[in-house]
Amino acid sequence: MSSNLFVLSGPSGVGKGTLREKALDGVKNLVYSISCTTRQPRDGEVDGVHYRFITHEKFQEDIKKDLFLEYAYVHSDFYGTLKADVIRELNAGNDVLLEIDVQGALQVRDKMPEAILIFIAPPSVEELEKRLRNRHTESEKALKIRLSNALKELELKDKYDYIIINDDLERASMELRKIIHEH
Ligand code: 5GP
Repeated sequence: MSSNLFVLSGPSGVGKGTLREKALDGVKNLVYSISCTTRQPRDGEVDGVHYRFITHEKFQEDIKKDLFLEYAYVHSDFYGTLKADVIRELNAGNDVLLEIDVQGALQVRDKMPEAILIFIAPPSVEELEKRLRNRHTESEKALKIRLSNALKELELKDKYDYIIINDDLERASMELRKIIHEH
C-alpha cells in the first residue's frame, strides 16, 4: 500500500490543532509535517516542534531555492511546507499530515493530485468568532483579520474531498480518524 498525504485546513479557531492531535494519537505511521513560519512564537510554542520560526529573509531565500511544496501569506505572515520533509516521510512509507491554509492546500492538490484534502468547518460563523475570542491569543486587529479570512476560507470548502463539522470534538475526531483509516 502506498503512503498518503493528508491535508487539513479550516479557519483559525476551528480547533484544527486539537483535532489533529487527537487524530494522530495512536495512529501508526502518520507523521505531522512541521511548517516554517515568519510569525512570532506564541507563549509555549517551541521552535522545531510547533513550527520552524524563521525570518522573512530566510523565508524569501527558501522560496527562491524552490524548497517549498507550498507556501502562502496568511494573516500577515508567511507559512510554508518544505518539500524535502514531505518526500522523505512518504518515501519512508509513512503517511503525512499537513495542517495548512486553503491557498496552500490548493497548491498541494495541483502538485500532488493524489493528496486527500480535509476541511474542518465550524458549526456556524458566530460559534467560530466566540471560540476565537475565548482563545485570547490575538489582538482585536489580528482577530478581525482572522475572522475575515475565515469567511473567505469557508467559501472554498467545497473544493475539499471531505468536510468535517467540528461541533463536538470527540465526534469530529472519530470522523477524521475514520477518513485516515479508510485510506
Ligand atoms: P497559526 O498562526 O494560527 O498557527 O496559523 C495560521 C494559519 O496558517 C492556519 O490556518 C494554518 O493552518 C496555516 N498554516 C500553518 N502552516 C502552514 C503552512 O505550512 N502552509 C500554509 N499554506 N498555511 C499554513
